[in-house]
Amino acid sequence: MHEGPDLAFRKGLSEGRIVLPKCDACRRFHFFPRVVCPHCYGTLFTWREASGKGEIHTTTVVRRSTNQGGDYNVCIVELEEGVRMMSRVEGVPPPDVEIAMPVIAYAGEIDGTPAVLCRPEGS
Ligand SMILES: [Zn+2]
Repeated sequence: MHEGPDLAFRKGLSEGRIVLPKCDACRRFHFFPRVVCPHCYGTLFTWREASGKGEIHTTTVVRRSTNQGGDYNVCIVELEEGVRMMSRVEGVPPPDVEIAMPVIAYAGEIDGTPAVLCRPEGS
């Protein structure tokens, strides 16, 4: 593992948590983790656990043959902290994922790699 600004994010995911950098100066979150705040150029951050609440910003169905696991969803989820990240909606057929759909994001795994996954809110 390299020691980039995303280390805390990836470590959090592997521990089952979505943690985000919150700028100590302007109090805004950003993602992907950077060494300088994209809002105010501050360089001090506090890592906070995301609530998980979010909604689908964009969604795509990736076609895959059934014997390779079938079609799956790739989306960009916008969390209530105001950041967007790549994710996958589980528990709903990929074509049924809609823009602005309320979801809960959580730390999971894709093919053994820690990843941000989503499920429909209320499920
Ligand atoms: Zn800032």
